[in-house]
Amino acid sequence: MTLLITGGASGIGAETARLAAQRGHKVAINYRSREARARKVVADIAANGGQAVALPADVSHEADISGLFDAAEQALGPISHLVNSAGIGTSPTRVEDFDAGVLARLFAVNTVGLMLCCREAARRMSTRRGGKGGVIVNVSSMAATIGGRPGASAYAASKAAVDSFTMGFAKEVAPEGIRAVSLRPGMIETEMTERTLADREVRAAIESTIAMGRVGQAQEIANAILWLLSDEASFISGVTLDASGGGFVFGKR
Ligand code: NAD
Repeated sequence: MTLLITGGASGIGAETARLAAQRGHKVAINYRSREARARKVVADIAANGGQAVALPADVSHEADISGLFDAAEQALGPISHLVNSAGIGTSPTRVEDFDAGVLARLFAVNTVGLMLCCREAARRMSTRRGGKGGVIVNVSSMAATIGGRPGASAYAASKAAVDSFTMGFAKEVAPEGIRAVSLRPGMIETEMTERTLADREVRAAIESTIAMGRVGQAQEIANAILWLLSDEASFISGVTLDASGGGFVFGKR
């Protein structure tokens, strides 16, 4: 497979890139600001005999998205698989303190950007348009299922929209050879969460709300993504998969 990963310079995206390359797949790693990190992932993959490229694009800019797909195809050939992992959070904010600009940015990246990446992929993968089909995994969040942890209602809403969109999108393109799935990680140790998890008390409180009693690792999410991308998941589309350590339970602490 030839895989494009948005937000692939760090966290879940980077782990997915490394694992895909290990399994012999070609990988285009999109980054926005973390150029050096993206190049390091590419260099590590190349050192292990794999094939990867690092490509800049801000998924909240429509013109960047078509340019990204063009560049990926130029470098590696037709893109058969897409993982939308680019995403941002906000600092914890009560609704009464919402700022329209912050909300617009959040949805521009997490929701509209992801939808436009799906549009671009559908245009190229759809058998109706001469493509060979493909698979898309959208990285959502367990936050969508609980309205977010305190102060994260907007983030949760941006991800709930991803789940609903993915369901409708998948139905539309299923007859055209494209599968699309929404993957919902629980709390995972990455740069997005490192500040929160650095506080031992906060970490313990969060872990007490996870059935397995621990946060997850990016590699555990990458494993699930690679399976969804593979032919082993050939009859799975239009659904959400939770990778969340057994799900949210009411905390004991
Ligand atoms: P991360 O911050 O390491 O990864 C997100 C990546 O997206 C970063 O490399 C960032 O530079 C990139 N990005 C942000 N805005 C972008 C833009 N406009 N254009 C292109 N790239 C952009 O954190 P992560 O945990 O690996 O997050 C990956 C995905 O997983 C995100 O969509 C996040 O919402 C989701 N998620 C994370 C967790 C968690 O606990 N870490 C839980 C559920 C869902």
